[in-house]
Amino acid sequence: MEELKTINEIKKDMKNYYQKLNYLYSKANTKSKRDRLLSSISILDHICSEDFFSFGDLSGDWIKDIKLEYDIENIFNMFCKNADDNMSLISKLSRNTINNFKNIKYPFYKNYHICNYLPLDRIISLVKEFYLDFGDDNIEKFIKSFNKDNLYIEPFEANYSGLLFPFDLIKKNIILINNNLPQDLYFASSLAHELGHAYESYLYYKRDLFDKGSTIFSEVVSSFFEYSFLKYIKDNNLYQKEINNELNVFYIELFNDAFSSNIISSMKNRVINDNGEICLDDEKAMDNAEKKKEELNYYRDLPNYQDNIRFRDPIIYYIGKIIAISLYHNYLQDSKEFMKNFNTALVNYPRTKSIDSFEVVGITKEELLSGKVLKKELINL
Ligand SMILES: [Zn+2]
Repeated sequence: MEELKTINEIKKDMKNYYQKLNYLYSKANTKSKRDRLLSSISILDHICSEDFFSFGDLSGDWIKDIKLEYDIENIFNMFCKNADDNMSLISKLSRNTINNFKNIKYPFYKNYHICNYLPLDRIISLVKEFYLDFGDDNIEKFIKSFNKDNLYIEPFEANYSGLLFPFDLIKKNIILINNNLPQDLYFASSLAHELGHAYESYLYYKRDLFDKGSTIFSEVVSSFFEYSFLKYIKDNNLYQKEINNELNVFYIELFNDAFSSNIISSMKNRVINDNGEICLDDEKAMDNAEKKKEELNYYRDLPNYQDNIRFRDPIIYYIGKIIAISLYHNYLQDSKEFMKNFNTALVNYPRTKSIDSFEVVGITKEELLSGKVLKKELINL
C-alpha cells in the first residue's frame, strides 16, 4: 500500500480486466450473464475515457462485434419508478429535515475551515483501523482482502472525490480516489465512503445482485460508513480541530440535498440533459427553488447550491445521509445486535427496493420523520 501505482501499471491492470471480461463474455450462455458483463465492460470503458485515465479504447476489435447493447436507460427507468413509489416519503422527510435545521438555527457558516495535510499512509491506516473497530468478521475479512491492487489514487478530471467500480463477475472492486483533492480528513472520509460501497459489493459476490443502482437507497451504506468514520474520529478525540469542519460539511451537504429533494418531490417535468442525466425542467425548477429560498429566508444564500437540479443524485445522497445518521445512532445502542442484522439489510434492499429492508436495523419511517436523532446530532456539533 505504501507506493501508488504508476499510470503504466494502471493501464496494464485495465487491460488485464478487459481480457478477463472478454473471456467470460465469450463463454456466457445466458442473456442475464451477458448483460452483467456488458455493464462491467461499459464501466471499464468509462474508466479508460478522458473523464479518468484517457487510455482510449483498450478493448480491441471484439467489443465492436458485440456492441454495447447494455441498457443504462433500463436502470434509469427502474430508478424513476422506485423514486416515484417513495415520493411522498421523500417529500415529507426532506421538509422535516429543512425545518429541523431552521428550528435550531443551524449556523452553516461556522468558521472551521481547518483541513490539515495527512500523509497517505496515515489516511489509509486510519480508515482501516476504523473499519476493524466494528469487530465484525465479514468486515474484517473484507478489509484484509483490500490492498494496493484494488485502490487507485490518481488525479482525474471527473467531478467526484471518489468512485467505486464493482466488477462482480471477476470478483474485483476498483476504488478510485481523486488525487486532485488535498490529502486531509475529507480525503480520508471519501475513502471510508468508497470502501463502504466496496464492502457492499463484496457481500453481493455471493448473491448475484447487481442492480442496486436502481433504488433510492444506493448511498445508504456508503454514507453510514462515512458518517461513522467522522464520528469515530470525533469520539476518539482525534484531529479535534479538523473534525468539526468535516462534520459541518456533511450536514451542509445533507441540507442541500434535502432542499433539492424537496423541490424534486413537487415537480413532474423531467428532461435528460447532454450528459444523459435526468434533470428537472430547468426554468420551472429554478422558479420553485427561488420561491423556496424566499420562504426559508434564513437560507437565502445556500452554500454550494446547484442551479441545475439533477433528479437522481440529490435523492440518493439525501436518503443516504439522513438514514446514515439514524443507523449510526442505532449502532451505538447495541453494536453487536446491529452488526448481526446490518449485513442482512444490505443484501436485501436491492431486491425489495424498500425502506422496510432496514427495519431489522431499527429504521422506520416514523422515527425518521420525527427528526429526533438529526436534531440531537446538529445541536451536539
Ligand atoms: Zn457513494
